[in-house]
Amino acid sequence: MAPSCSPVNSLHVAVIGAGAAGLVAARELRRESHSVVVFDRGTEVGGLWVYTPQSEPDPLSLDPNRTVVHSSVYDSLRTNLPRECMGYSDFPFVSRPEHDESRDPRRYPNHREVLAYLQDFAREFKLVEMVRFETEVVLVEQDGRKWKIRSKSSDGVTRDEIFDSVVVCNGHYTEPRVAEVPGIDLWPGKQLHSHNYRVPDPFKDQVVVVIGNFASGSDISRDITGVAKEVHIAARSQPSETYEKLPGADNLWLHPMIERAHKDGSIVFKNGKVIQADTIVHCTGYIYHFPFLNTNGYITVEDNCVGPLYKHVFPPALAPGLSFVGLPWMTLLFTMFELQSKWVAAVLSGRVTLPSEEKMMEDTNALYAKRDANGFPKRYTHRLGASQAEYLNWIADQIGEPPVEQWRNQELEGGYVRLATQPDTFRDKWDDDHLIVEAYEDFLRQKLISVIPSQILG
Ligand code: FAD
Repeated sequence: MAPSCSPVNSLHVAVIGAGAAGLVAARELRRESHSVVVFDRGTEVGGLWVYTPQSEPDPLSLDPNRTVVHSSVYDSLRTNLPRECMGYSDFPFVSRPEHDESRDPRRYPNHREVLAYLQDFAREFKLVEMVRFETEVVLVEQDGRKWKIRSKSSDGVTRDEIFDSVVVCNGHYTEPRVAEVPGIDLWPGKQLHSHNYRVPDPFKDQVVVVIGNFASGSDISRDITGVAKEVHIAARSQPSETYEKLPGADNLWLHPMIERAHKDGSIVFKNGKVIQADTIVHCTGYIYHFPFLNTNGYITVEDNCVGPLYKHVFPPALAPGLSFVGLPWMTLLFTMFELQSKWVAAVLSGRVTLPSEEKMMEDTNALYAKRDANGFPKRYTHRLGASQAEYLNWIADQIGEPPVEQWRNQELEGGYVRLATQPDTFRDKWDDDHLIVEAYEDFLRQKLISVIPSQILG
């Protein structure tokens, strides 16, 4: 639906979360003349990127009453995407002349650099003053045509407030999903989820099984090889005969999934190999979790599909009062947060209109039908992958923004290929220098940087 030029409504909007999604949502809502309160249970902006050496007391995070530690960042973490394609459209994630030596200029920088970037972004656009820190949202529900938010501050004070609209940006990398391993109840070793992994030291001289071989599994297994006796990756995606010694370490092996764990401490893989293991690290991803949300059962999370949601953002019967920014994955996340936020802000102000509830439901059901017909489980509903450019450009078109830059999509695609094919070297060896130059030339043309650093031009 094309943006109109009619006068805009200015609404009172609550944003839950001051991570990369909530910060840009706050900025776009304010740009659209809404008044905004951002709630965050943490003490600073940045969400997931606020590293803490603390982890949760329950290493698998199964106890629903545990004290939750938000971040899942480990000490050695560097980004898994090139920085040029990671940043917001008008505030590139680049090394700047004013940066001191505490900053990390690498193309795939450490997690501290991402946090510093988000802090710079919040400072530049005066977002910090919009955030109520150490304030957890404990209930969101409809109150007539408006929305009630109940929050609890760190001093124990509970407060109810009424908003015209709520934008949920609470992050999706805190509530672990744990692999089901036959026989695990009797297996005597230790288990933890990657959410609670920080440093390799506790694995010294151990035999460790890492379940999962995507970004975190691949990183953490390599992190541990430096101190452990042996590290064995169990990957669901591998054919059952797989048994491979992986490059980059002399004590790292790839297997298919675990067949069974036994009470004598042994682990049997589906390729028939048997090892005695000390610890299993579950790098098996996370689940969407909205413990504060009461929609009388309208919105459900089933096998990690949050729905019904039109284009992963608006629940048809509750739109536009309630919206979600940041659910899809395998895409340019910060770009997506920004586009979804602009869309929500423009819909709330009335500059852009949504289709009828029935039409939104039809579209959502069509997405589910396509997913089922392609044989994908529900938990893949929010995985964009090959359709990510189409999705982002569709939103851009709704709000009158240009399509996402080609170089950005190409960096993402090439980045994923390198991550899969050269997991031990992808952050330091690449063959797409021409895309880096294109990105910096684009930033310069838009006056987002004042000069292209000489090392970029070679
Ligand atoms: P978060 O950053 O998690 O922020 C959510 C915020 O909501 C937090 O501040 C939290 O305190 C707050 N909150 C939650 N619940 C409540 C509540 N009830 N009340 C009040 N506040 C609440 N993406 C990339 O683009 N590049 C990468 O290299 C990359 N690497 C990653 C590595 C790891 C290990 C992980 C787990 C993810 C990685 N990601 C990466 C994805 C990352 O999640 C996104 O980049 C992004 O930072 C997520 O932002 P968010 O705002 O959605 O969530």
